[in-house]
Amino acid sequence: MAMRPDEIVAILRRQIEEFEAELEVEDLGSVLTVGDGIARVYGLDQALAGELLEFPGGVYGMVLNLERDNIGVVILGPYQHIKEGDPVKRTGRVVQVPVGEPMIGRIVNPLGQPIDGKGPIVTERYRPIEAQAPGVVDRTGVNEPLQTGMKSIDSLVPIGRGQRELIIGDRQTGKTAIAVDTILNQKDEDVICIYVAIGQKASTVAGVVDVLEKHGAMKYTIVISATASEPSPLLYIAPYAGVAMAEEFMYAGRDVLIVYDDLSKHATAYREMSLLLRRPPGREAFPGDVFYIHSRLLERAAKLNDELGGGSITALPIIETQAGDISAYIPTNVISITDGQIYLESDLFHAGIRPAISVGRSVSRVGGAAQVPIMRQIAGTLRIDLSQYRELAAFAQFGADLDRSTRARLARGERIYEVLKQEQYKPMPVVEQAIALYVAINGYLDSIPVEEVVRFEREFLAEMRMEYAELLERLNEDKELFPETEEELKKAIVAFKEKFVS
Ligand code: ATP
Ligand code: MG
Repeated sequence: MAMRPDEIVAILRRQIEEFEAELEVEDLGSVLTVGDGIARVYGLDQALAGELLEFPGGVYGMVLNLERDNIGVVILGPYQHIKEGDPVKRTGRVVQVPVGEPMIGRIVNPLGQPIDGKGPIVTERYRPIEAQAPGVVDRTGVNEPLQTGMKSIDSLVPIGRGQRELIIGDRQTGKTAIAVDTILNQKDEDVICIYVAIGQKASTVAGVVDVLEKHGAMKYTIVISATASEPSPLLYIAPYAGVAMAEEFMYAGRDVLIVYDDLSKHATAYREMSLLLRRPPGREAFPGDVFYIHSRLLERAAKLNDELGGGSITALPIIETQAGDISAYIPTNVISITDGQIYLESDLFHAGIRPAISVGRSVSRVGGAAQVPIMRQIAGTLRIDLSQYRELAAFAQFGADLDRSTRARLARGERIYEVLKQEQYKPMPVVEQAIALYVAINGYLDSIPVEEVVRFEREFLAEMRMEYAELLERLNEDKELFPETEEELKKAIVAFKEKFVS
């Protein structure tokens, strides 16, 4: 068959032309409409879900909706200068953040860029913010405690490394305080902490950073901040960015604690974004996949098995309720995903019981297995004792004549509650917590006036450290109460009480 050169030339020319055209279609699109932080982009048929796109001025956007003739993109930054017809470039990458040691001690935005004015962060390692959670075989049971340093939590709702424990309560009930105290308590624990602030006031975040800095906790903490003034897509990606940074450490065999403060605002940001993307609204106007955004986030908290290095991510998500309503949509969702909840009540908070933990409604479904033995021994029946006390106390309100044993039980309960109170920023070592509870539970405080209980506890613990250092040392080592150490402890209490009373 004879070849005609002009035909070949024509074919080649057409192919070259088409080749160029194809490239253009793939990598450069244009803005159809833009507004409220959302852009519709035409011409990027090959874009991936979650891919980063570049807009003019170096602003990035994330692909969320892939539709038939355009794609819906959320813009992660200022969008006022973007106009209809502007070119949009594909980057071929999904959203990722810098990870690793250099992030520690820094305050960053959800894209991992520093906002603390301490210069650029130099790291070669990046991780995509969306990643598959560890599977069933990669994990092992929670078996190591994560001490919060709070008596009421470590005794009643113990948390283990790799657990997800929800902190839930109305506004201003001390939710953030619990999370921050837990971070402060990790000082000598070799746990890396990540605090993700979502939709809070910038001044509140600055306050938290201030506290962390003052207590030397920034040395092992990363703060990710997406304040209320930032566009909702940044709020939306903040917790995923945080857990991506946490995963880097977990897969290196380290233990990480991550706080999401709070997921109610995260859900609200996602709702705003979804409605602007014209996704159909469901219950409480949240989109249908609002459960999934939280479950896939919290599933990434895990305790890895030994082959994978045994690292862990412990998650403390926070949810704000309205008027104590835990049966609203988002609270019920997150309660069902987590391994328990710490429920804070306004009434308790205002009655001066702080932390305002409702003993009856707080649970930890897996942490008990990881509780230190001495605490398990001493606080084993605490929950039942307290619930009986509350029942009695409710009954006693009617002013009925009470017999002696009832009055004694009321006195005991009242003092145990007094010991469970704890000031902010004063986390305690677990053995000292156990000793304080031992004193109250075994009735040594029954004859001490309630107002004196706090002083008794403080002074007795000081006495233990001064005069009984050897005993305290032994308890710290054993983490268990043997009959002979218990005898010594009892003697110490009795001796101190005599001094205290006189
Ligand atoms: P918001 O809903 O605004 O996020 P929140 O539930 O996170 O509030 P916090 O900010 O932690 O609550 O605490 C509210 C106030 O209560 C703060 O002023 C804090 O200092 C105080 N507070 C919290 N815990 C304690 C405590 N254990 N003892 C004394 N004061 C406390
Ligand atoms: Mg708060």
